[in-house]
Amino acid sequence: MSIPESAAPATLAGEVRRKTGLNPATCYQCGKCSAGCPMAVETSLRPHDVLRMLQFDDREQLLSSESIWLCLTCETCTARCPNSCDPARIIDCLRETALNEGAAQPPRNIRAFHNAFLKQIQRSGRLFEMGLIMSYKMRSGALFADVMAAPGMLGRGKLALAPSRIQGLEEIRRIFDACTRHESDSTSTTTAQQNPGTEGAENA
Ligand code: SF4
Ligand code: SF4
Repeated sequence: MSIPESAAPATLAGEVRRKTGLNPATCYQCGKCSAGCPMAVETSLRPHDVLRMLQFDDREQLLSSESIWLCLTCETCTARCPNSCDPARIIDCLRETALNEGAAQPPRNIRAFHNAFLKQIQRSGRLFEMGLIMSYKMRSGALFADVMAAPGMLGRGKLALAPSRIQGLEEIRRIFDACTRHESDSTSTTTAQQNPGTEGAENA
């Protein structure tokens, strides 16, 4: 059952539960999620650590952790969890929360990749790898990283030189528009919760 905004939960686990319908308290720390996570060797927090910290309401450390941005959303953890805790969805929710609250920004290269990827999908409905690479390099500043890999990939036909559009691109764009509207609604709600009284002052 969803909890109304006016009764916003005090804990981060409560917020996650309200936004996703998932209850972090049900995790019994078996570790199966982390055992299968391909990023576990790269992150300081593995999926079962994230669930544990939610149970202890370690909000500040969780929302400022780089680990939540390194998750690939591959959903291996979710598939392996015997208790349907869905760590991948929970980590996604933590990223949204961190962004909405301004608690933390993802590292520049990760933000650059996300934005470049989404821009490609919005433009043509599918990934145009060459466009993704160029867009990522411009946004991240890593202009010359991995350039020597390009000739080999081109030679093997791994990189198309022009984008191709899917049919039904309008549907994809409608999804992007809906997400943008949802983001701006969420930002207004968060601002109103963080600055009670501002709304009235603005309308005065
Ligand atoms: S697999 Fe599920 S129950 Fe086990 S530690 Fe991970 S989230 Fe918790
Ligand atoms: S979704 Fe994220 S946390 Fe889960 S297994 Fe994949 S990389 Fe690891």
